[in-house]
Amino acid sequence: MNEPLIRIRDLSKSYQRGGQEIPVLVDIQLDVMAGDFVALMGPSGSGKSTLLNLIAGIDQPSSGRIEIGGIDIATICVGQLATGRAAHVGFIFQFYNLLPVLTAFENVELPLLLTNLSGRQRREHTLAALEMVKLSDRLDHYPNELSGGQQQRVAIARALVSDPTLIVADEPTGDLDRVTGSEVLDLLQQLNRDLGKTIVMVTHDPKAAARARRMVHLEKGVLVSEAELNAQA
Ligand code: ADP
Ligand code: MG
Repeated sequence: MNEPLIRIRDLSKSYQRGGQEIPVLVDIQLDVMAGDFVALMGPSGSGKSTLLNLIAGIDQPSSGRIEIGGIDIATICVGQLATGRAAHVGFIFQFYNLLPVLTAFENVELPLLLTNLSGRQRREHTLAALEMVKLSDRLDHYPNELSGGQQQRVAIARALVSDPTLIVADEPTGDLDRVTGSEVLDLLQQLNRDLGKTIVMVTHDPKAAARARRMVHLEKGVLVSEAELNAQA
């Protein structure tokens, strides 16, 4: 058997509030193999975003560990995490999180400024990522000159541009209508099937989840069940 790309063991997370400890994730065990596309489902407040942020290294566990590619992410120092994140994990948000003062091209190029690529290489990678999401004709548009679906495609290009092995997406279709959301899901499936990207996608929409290869469910911070689906490649 291959090693999983993501290995989560005994993971717990709680927040302190007014002297009280609030458990948010409780004793999570999860393996995600390279090439998988996992839908992380569960009601609002069940800890989905918290788990995703921990996987992306944006937040730290209270206990337990997360390994990505065999490396415990807690052992990576903050500086390496910034560049490591740029190299290995692409993050897609519900509300796109594009910088309004930057064009589509500049937003996508941004993560590459952390790398030592030359200006010409950065331009090549940026143009390729925007072509992948079919926005080559919107390079100089600002986010407020783009539709929601187009903004999310820019955000996907930004997540892709550093060629990460892992893409995490937090309700990527949560702010989109059904048709536009479906186009974004087409794109994520294409990244998984054609480029072999491993994807963990938070959603509470069963239709969106059905696009993944399998689902895992969180209930009040506990991983409750797993069902294989869409096993077809
Ligand atoms: P989901 O994404 O499934 O809706 P979250 O992971 O955002 O859930 O939140 C899970 C729980 O953790 C919620 O009860 C929320 O209030 C709590 N929580 C999240 N972030 C914080 C924080 N920074 N401080 C305190 N509590 C938090
Ligand atoms: Mg959330």
